Amino acid sequence: MQSICDSLPGVLSLAEARDRLVAALSPVRGVESVLSNSALGRVTAEDILTTVDFPPFSNAAMDGYAVRSVDALPGAILQVVDRVMAGAPSVAALEPGQAIRIFTGAPLPDGADAVVMQEAVVPEGETVQIRLSAPLLCGENVRFRGEELRVGERLLASGRIIRPQELGLLAQAGVATVSVRRRLRVAVLATGDELVAAGGSLGPGKIYESNRAVLLGLLADLPVEALDFGIIADDRALLGNALKLAAAEADVVITSGGASVGDADFMVELLTAKGRVEFFRVAIKPGKPFLLGHLEGTPLFGLPGNPVSMMVTFMALVKPGLETLMGLMPAEPLRWPVRAVSPIRKRPGRLEFMRGVLERHRGELFVAPLADQGSHRLTSMSVAHCLIVLPQDSCGIAAGDWVSVELLPGGERDILERPA
Ligand code: AMP
Ligand code: MG
Repeated sequence: MQSICDSLPGVLSLAEARDRLVAALSPVRGVESVLSNSALGRVTAEDILTTVDFPPFSNAAMDGYAVRSVDALPGAILQVVDRVMAGAPSVAALEPGQAIRIFTGAPLPDGADAVVMQEAVVPEGETVQIRLSAPLLCGENVRFRGEELRVGERLLASGRIIRPQELGLLAQAGVATVSVRRRLRVAVLATGDELVAAGGSLGPGKIYESNRAVLLGLLADLPVEALDFGIIADDRALLGNALKLAAAEADVVITSGGASVGDADFMVELLTAKGRVEFFRVAIKPGKPFLLGHLEGTPLFGLPGNPVSMMVTFMALVKPGLETLMGLMPAEPLRWPVRAVSPIRKRPGRLEFMRGVLERHRGELFVAPLADQGSHRLTSMSVAHCLIVLPQDSCGIAAGDWVSVELLPGGERDILERPA
């Protein structure tokens, strides 16, 4: 049987393109040591082992009374012989028939193996009566030394992004500096004779350039150093020079525009002549004229110039590529099924990313595609909450069908509530 893709020679499916891209790239070398408290967002360059136990000593998980569990039978009366607060050194050992008043985080006295929470006792002078309905278990309401991690165990694996919780783990382990991969240097440039930088004046036929602003914004969320190579005219020699400079300065180059096969599109031609084209064109809409190449050993992502195409190809292909270069496992985009409010028309042949608006109705999510899906309409990326992902072979869907959506960053903020 003839497949749809046979009619598009040389065009890779998104999954093939992603696999080829990840396989064609390898992590850049270079590691640096940074203060742990400035390591947010960086990528660990080695396994980090803990030199302290988590927790470092056995302690109370509740405010209450430290006891020997065998003593704390329902109805038993125990002598309160001491009290211990969080931060205080531990107190004398507990003898049979005794209890020690204890507060959350305070060291468990020797001899004790459980804590009775304060709500389950009746204090009377120097004693407490246990009012539990069932016997206390050994270890109840106690956090034992090393139960979470022991000295020498792995606190963080190599090749992980350090998030706020990992900053906390480093702090808990008393780790002052951490070895991370150096920041990727990412060169960004836009090409097009019609492009004018903000602040310039718009002559006839000109438009303000916006792709670098979007790209620099997308890169700001990653542990990279972005290098802005500006706007380059549709001129073979000028563009060739700019690409060469960018490839020499950076670990990876991202361009926008000039990636199609029009008369003013020089990216494929230049890469073929001066470097290597890994692949060109992906069966997605928008974003088909995506290019992966190498120039003087530096990988290059050539993105289409239309603002939506540029952003979609960044999310679907450039991001996993950058993650690979950073030494991370590229993350699969998280997609989940929601019901379509209205029918969606689609021709088979390309996977489509449509801008959609989510609404919640009786706790269930529904999606509606925006009426105009033009790939020049950057406003659609601003108004949309999500991308609706329609598989390559899909011929469209009916109202009420399930479709996959991928949330746009911050898209959850504006989800509409449809009245019952
Ligand atoms: P191209 O990929 O060069 O054929 O450009 C496709 C469309 O995107 C054209 O309408 C361009 O004017 C527009 N475009 C290209 N680059 C940019 C850019 N950096 N900012 C805004 N629009 C652009
Ligand atoms: Mg152009």
